[in-house]
Amino acid sequence: MAVNIKEIFGSMVFNDPVMKERLPKDIYKALKKTMKNGTHLELDVANVVASAMKDWAIEKGATHFTHWFQPMTGVTAEKHDSFIVPDGEGCAIMEFSGKALVKGEPDASSFPSGGLRSTFEARGYTAWDPTSYAFIKDKTLYIPTAFCSYSGEALDKKTPLLRSMQALNKQALRVLKLFGVTDAKRVVSSVGPEQEYFLIDRSVYLKRPDLIYCGRTLFGARPPKGQEMEDHYFGAIKQRVSAFMRELDEELWKLGIYAKTEHNEVAPAQHELAPIYSESNIATDHNQLVMELMKKVALKHDLVCLLHEKPFAGVNGSGKHINWSISTDTGINLLEPGDTPFENAQFLLFLVAVIKAIDDYQDLLRVSVASAGNDHRLGANEAPPAIVSVFLGEELTEILTALENDTLYAGKGKTLMEIGATVLPHFPKDTTDRNRTSPFAFTGNKFEFRMLGSAFSIAGPIIVLNTIVADVLGQFADILENSTDFKADLSKLIKKTITDHKRIIFNGNGYDAAWVKEAEQRGLSNLKTTPEALPAFVAPKSVEMFTRHNVFSEHEIHSRYDILLENYSKTINIEALTMIDMVNKQVIPAVLDYQRELAELVLRKKSISSDLPVGLEEDLLNRIAKLSECLKNRLDNLSQQTIAVREIKDNLEMAKAYREKVFMAMSELRMIVDELETLVSSKHWNIPTYAEILNSVV
Ligand code: ADP
Ligand code: MG
Repeated sequence: MAVNIKEIFGSMVFNDPVMKERLPKDIYKALKKTMKNGTHLELDVANVVASAMKDWAIEKGATHFTHWFQPMTGVTAEKHDSFIVPDGEGCAIMEFSGKALVKGEPDASSFPSGGLRSTFEARGYTAWDPTSYAFIKDKTLYIPTAFCSYSGEALDKKTPLLRSMQALNKQALRVLKLFGVTDAKRVVSSVGPEQEYFLIDRSVYLKRPDLIYCGRTLFGARPPKGQEMEDHYFGAIKQRVSAFMRELDEELWKLGIYAKTEHNEVAPAQHELAPIYSESNIATDHNQLVMELMKKVALKHDLVCLLHEKPFAGVNGSGKHINWSISTDTGINLLEPGDTPFENAQFLLFLVAVIKAIDDYQDLLRVSVASAGNDHRLGANEAPPAIVSVFLGEELTEILTALENDTLYAGKGKTLMEIGATVLPHFPKDTTDRNRTSPFAFTGNKFEFRMLGSAFSIAGPIIVLNTIVADVLGQFADILENSTDFKADLSKLIKKTITDHKRIIFNGNGYDAAWVKEAEQRGLSNLKTTPEALPAFVAPKSVEMFTRHNVFSEHEIHSRYDILLENYSKTINIEALTMIDMVNKQVIPAVLDYQRELAELVLRKKSISSDLPVGLEEDLLNRIAKLSECLKNRLDNLSQQTIAVREIKDNLEMAKAYREKVFMAMSELRMIVDELETLVSSKHWNIPTYAEILNSVV
């Protein structure tokens, strides 16, 4: 059946056309003002909006509403209430008040708060974020909200995200004013997140407790055929997968999400979805919906969608690339080279501001992508390394070098590049040879941050990006606002910034071992694991920066730091316990059964005739028996480590011990199990193998 995109796109969203149609003019105007400027919404306005929203939702079949929020678990949360209100005469009417729209009080005491609420208020409340449209899903009206404690502390990912957008807006407008840009009233950051994922058949998934509890396989010998033939990347999409993609697209379109590109990725069973970019907070809400719907729609097709960063060892992991840019409400992308020398000078200032921000706060960017799952990816073969660097491309790098040194730029017929006097060449926006190994790449008019894990909420990395760039823009504005010779001081500032921060620019291969060495010589950090990275979040430099821009209070930073550490430890703990359980219940019985069978065969053959050769059975039995001993020792060791680590009181020390002791013990145990898998007959080995899982969708 043909899809009427005009009819379905945004059909489940209380968006601008719906508001215009259904709200009285003055109410519509008041709401738009709130949406644009973040001003307070009067209760009488909220009442009218709520009532119109309810009528619209009921017409679309909704019976319930929910305040939808993004607690620090990384996923979204919701509590459903029905619109039903008793009418006093034993019947019911459907009602929805402005108060219920604007504020909710979920019983949220079991969401992670890192101790924020225990010291203040036990309860939190949700407040409507009118900049993100309400929508209908599963017969429920969803109201996007921010989640705070009664003392105003953020308990979610959205509140600091909105604050970081405000910070960026404020500082970018200061800089624009210096360039005489006064028509722009607002500067926003936009994001287009590319989402990778795996699809496997539900039947194999259900036989793997590790996938069920941990989202990744804890065992699995390498399959005879992996991704080495590179025949999956952009290959023909299987029918089952394309049916899934089609349905997913339609569901996303209904919610006003511009799902655009769907293709196969490098690993077998791996795919990617990219929507068209939108403002940061909308993109964040939408990406949460994308992930949620991927899982849901997959199940309808008897598939399971794996969003974990590294579901299979030895096979490419899944990442998320966030394409990030900043633009004015007048439609100017500030990361796009302009047509006039003056516009170019403005572009260069914003460009070097980003470069300086990345260099100054590389550790914070690393923190923003740190998780137990992503540790498997960063630094592994396919992903960017844990070292943060910026790719600019040869051309732009040459231009910056020419500017820095007052030398001739060969690319433009040997011209002297002069800030504010020369026009930059337009950079190709989509060159095929562009560097895919760089963690942070300039791609013509935006930056692409590639270190995120596929399961991440994109809020964290965007908060960091927005705030660090706001911080540098603020520093620049401080200098230039006091200047008496703008052009000369601007030129000086750009040159100095290039000189001071060019160490972060790297156009080479990020996977190369030589880069690790060079990066060290350049003084760049290489924080390999989450426990190594996280302390940078609470370092004085970070606390000062975030508090300076009112994005996080010191207290909020510490609570988040604790949550991240606990999360890390809990993840490894669940993995370790799952591993122990699988070894006890699945691996050991299979290994013992097979040994018994082999031993019985040897005995039986010998009882028939001592001349019958038993070399094969005995040899196999011998190898498996030896491995079994090793299995026992390593299993015991893992069990002991998981018990010992619980004695540690300090959160950071505990996370470190999980990494250095428990995780190591898991890796050692895994080696033995994977070797046993290659020896034990498939009749006994009842855990689906990598080959079976990766080829489960036909
Ligand atoms: P790829 O990196 O795979 O080549 P594309 O170049 O198609 O992908 O773009 C990837 C994402 O970048 C898309 O979501 C797209 O909408 C987004 N994007 C394009 N321009 C911008 C921009 N100015 N700001 C933010 N995101 C953008
Ligand atoms: Mg990309």
